[in-house]
Amino acid sequence: MLMEEERAQIVEYGKKMSAAGLSVGTSGNISIYDPETGYMAISPSGLGYFDTKPEDVVVMDLDGAIIDGARKPSSEHGLHTIVYQNRPEARAVVHTHSPYATTLACLHQTLRPVHYVIMGAGVNEVPLVPYVTFGTPELAEAVGEVLVANPKTRVVLLANHGDVCYQASLPKAFGLATNIEFTAQIQWQCLCAGEPQYLTDEQMASAMERSKTYGQQTK
Ligand code: 13P
Ligand code: ZN
Repeated sequence: MLMEEERAQIVEYGKKMSAAGLSVGTSGNISIYDPETGYMAISPSGLGYFDTKPEDVVVMDLDGAIIDGARKPSSEHGLHTIVYQNRPEARAVVHTHSPYATTLACLHQTLRPVHYVIMGAGVNEVPLVPYVTFGTPELAEAVGEVLVANPKTRVVLLANHGDVCYQASLPKAFGLATNIEFTAQIQWQCLCAGEPQYLTDEQMASAMERSKTYGQQTK
C-alpha cells in the first residue's frame, strides 16, 4: 500500500480530532504531503473518523488525480492542494469545523492575539477567507489568495465554515488546530464578558522569543 505510514497517521489523528471535539460528525479533513513523490494522502469524503481504515485514505497527486485508494477523496482536496502549492514547507493540513474558531468565522471576525498561544499561527492575527461554498475549486482559490496576501500565516479562518491549519508534520498541525481553537474560545468568552485586551506586537515578539527555549529541547 502506498504511503502506508501516512495513511495510518491520518486515521490516528482523525480519531484524535473527532475525540477532541474539533470536528463534529464527518466534518473536517486531514492530509499529509510527500514532496519526494509529489503525492498527498487525504482522508476519504463523508466517512466517520472511527470507521476509517488506512486503506480508506486516498493517495492523490497535486493535479487532482487519484493514485491509490478505492474511496472518494475529501471534497476539500483542492483546498489541501492549494496549501501545499503555496507553502513549500507544509507537510500536513488539518481542516476543522471547531466550534469557537467557526463562531468567529461566522461573525466574520479574525482571530486576534488575546492569548500568546496564537503565535503558532506564525502571525498575530489570523486572516479570514470570504464565504465560498464548501468543496469547490472556488473555495480553494479563495484560500490561495489569502495565503498569498498573508505570506506568514499557517492558519486561515473560512467564513461561515471553519479553519485550515498547516504545519511541518501532522502532530504539529493537529497541535496548532487545538491551540487555535483554544485562542478562539478565549476570544469569544472575552467578547461575551467584556472587552478583550489584546497583546501588542512587542508582547507577541517577546513570547515568540521565549518560546524558542520552551519545553524539553530534544531536537
Ligand atoms: P469531506 O467529508 O468531503 O472531507 O468534507 C468535510 C468538510 O469539512 C467539507 O468542508
Ligand atoms: Zn469543512
